Amino acid sequence: MAINRHSLATMVSAENTLRDYRIVEGIYLLGSLSRGLTVFDQQVRAHNLAWALWRVLEAEKQDADPIRIAVVGGGIAGLTLTACLLARSSAFVVTQFEERWDLCPLQQGSDTRWLHPHIYRWPKQGSRAPDAGLPVLNWTEGRASDVSREVLEGFGNYAHQYGEGRLALYLGMNHLRIGAADRTIEWMGRKGCRRGAYIQSGEPHGDRCGFDVVILATGFGLEKGAQEAEGSNSYWRNDRLGQPQLSGSRATYLVSGFGDGALVDLCRLTVERFRQDTILYELFGHELEIFEDELRGHLGEDFGRSAQNVYDIMQCKLSPASQELMRAARQNLLQRLRKDTIVILHASGRDGTNTSLRDLFDPHSSVLNRTLLYLLYQCGGFVLSLGELDDAVREYAVRDDKVVKRYGADTLQAVKRLFSDPDIVSARLDDMKANAGQIAERRWPLGAFPHISTVA
Ligand SMILES: Cc1cc2nc3c(=O)[nH]c(=O)nc-3n(C[C@H](O)[C@H](O)[C@H](O)COP(=O)(O)OP(=O)(O)OC[C@H]3O[C@@H](n4cnc5c(N)ncnc54)[C@H](O)[C@@H]3O)c2cc1C
Repeated sequence: MAINRHSLATMVSAENTLRDYRIVEGIYLLGSLSRGLTVFDQQVRAHNLAWALWRVLEAEKQDADPIRIAVVGGGIAGLTLTACLLARSSAFVVTQFEERWDLCPLQQGSDTRWLHPHIYRWPKQGSRAPDAGLPVLNWTEGRASDVSREVLEGFGNYAHQYGEGRLALYLGMNHLRIGAADRTIEWMGRKGCRRGAYIQSGEPHGDRCGFDVVILATGFGLEKGAQEAEGSNSYWRNDRLGQPQLSGSRATYLVSGFGDGALVDLCRLTVERFRQDTILYELFGHELEIFEDELRGHLGEDFGRSAQNVYDIMQCKLSPASQELMRAARQNLLQRLRKDTIVILHASGRDGTNTSLRDLFDPHSSVLNRTLLYLLYQCGGFVLSLGELDDAVREYAVRDDKVVKRYGADTLQAVKRLFSDPDIVSARLDDMKANAGQIAERRWPLGAFPHISTVA
């Protein structure tokens, strides 16, 4: 009886998960329109979806035919999903499509970006832990380029151990359209041939096939403005913002935006030797945990993305002890301000929605970055501009190559464009964006995915 109740509960949980991810019957979206879009969050969603598919499809399955699954997108989330599916059930046969010429193309070679699995959940307990702690394609904090190597190695191992005859890869797609009505995909690209963690490009190949399940793991797309420059100013491309100027003069930069991407670049341009993983220890020292304890009390449940205005917390709610810690952190930060840059933060928002500095502390970014922004503001570390971008560029005489735009991507339109019959999916996608479901919390039971240790 107890066993039945347990399995009923897990089945309900799996069905609820599938409902959150479902666009239409048999077609699912991995994350793209949700809130909390870190690499780790996306991997948690990938585990959840793989587990739920296995749980529900296994129960429904009445024959020995394989279950044909298409995964569109070969970024970290898509790779995690495929590895989970292959490891979870030999009934799953996966075809994975990646439009670029290699897997995980965004983070590969990205030496100037730091990736930490949990830091955007700060000050949640455990958010400074460097290990992702995932059963499949686990990684530890590091440069994005190193993390992508670790993930790709892991993917090679899973593909080797579980993918033989069950994984087909296509790269360099120049066409891909999904039919929502009949779960078909038509495509033109290159057949990929895996050699360990590397994929070689084979003959051009075009086809149209039906699948039992189609999963969109296409991420968030390139940021607005990055497309025109062929992605050269996209967040994951290497830059020199964190390096001291070699010329004798100070350089004026303008960062436009107020999400995490913009605030990270603001920190790199204003704080000497800035590193996302060490900055909190460096500013708060041994008292960090005391400060975190209090902050959690003010933030409510969803710590890292708390809906609370962080400016209000810092200004009005901190205890005298925490105010003292903030004062000390500010003193430490003052010693670290860069001497070689002048930085304008242009943060008016679309249509001038932000009319005061306080507006930037609403939940547009992580609590970590809002806290750093507050400290920088107290140190006079940047100049704030809430006017028109062109006016700010003119007023501060910022050179074109010193304007950093971080505006996020138009993900909704990008997802709709994937369908040959967008009318069928449009309303549901609008709803997914509005409700931002798919909470990135573990739903799979511990032990649901096998670990592997072999090397391909
Ligand atoms: C400005 C910015 C800053 C960020 N900062 C951080 C950070 O500091 N820390 C963090 O953890 N995360 C950060 N993220 C989020 C991070 O980029 C994603 O979580 C991560 O890339 C994993 O997501 P993914 O695999 O879902 O998507 P992606 O990495 O975007 O992968 C999607 C893949 O799908 C492919 N694809 C797209 N369309 C098609 C198609 N039609 N056919 C075939 N393939 C297709 C793409 O080429 C890509 O390889 C940031 C994102 C942005 C935009």
